[in-house]
Amino acid sequence: MFCKQCGKEIGEQDTFCPYCGASQAVADGSAQANSVPPQDNGAQHQQQQYQQYQQQQQQQQYAYQQQQNVQDSGSAGWGVLGFFFPLVGLILFLVWKDTKPRCAKSAGIGALVGVIVSVVFLIIGLMSDLVSASQLSAVVSAFPLL
Ligand SMILES: [Zn+2]
Repeated sequence: MFCKQCGKEIGEQDTFCPYCGASQAVADGSAQANSVPPQDNGAQHQQQQYQQYQQQQQQQQYAYQQQQNVQDSGSAGWGVLGFFFPLVGLILFLVWKDTKPRCAKSAGIGALVGVIVSVVFLIIGLMSDLVSASQLSAVVSAFPLL
């Protein structure tokens, strides 16, 4: 803005001209806005913050409702699927972990249990193979003696 007295360019917030010292408050919109007591500004600011907070709350509620609309039954079926197809369960877990946490959890647990069970069976199978192999070799080594 420009000084009302001398016409030189001065800052928008200046209440007095730095060149001639003339007051800029008279009949000036921005100066009047500055003359509003700081307490009121604080209250307005707080009100704005509160409105923003309310809007955020509403948005969050809306997002929550949308999330509820997504079918997230968390049924054991996904666990069973994950159990028999651990890879599918893992993929479902990764895909759903944000949108359908309960389904993702059951699928993930099913996959985990499926993997553990299959590993256990693999170990048992390997052990029984080893046992039978050692029995076989014992029989073979005993054969020449017969
Ligand atoms: Zn001036």
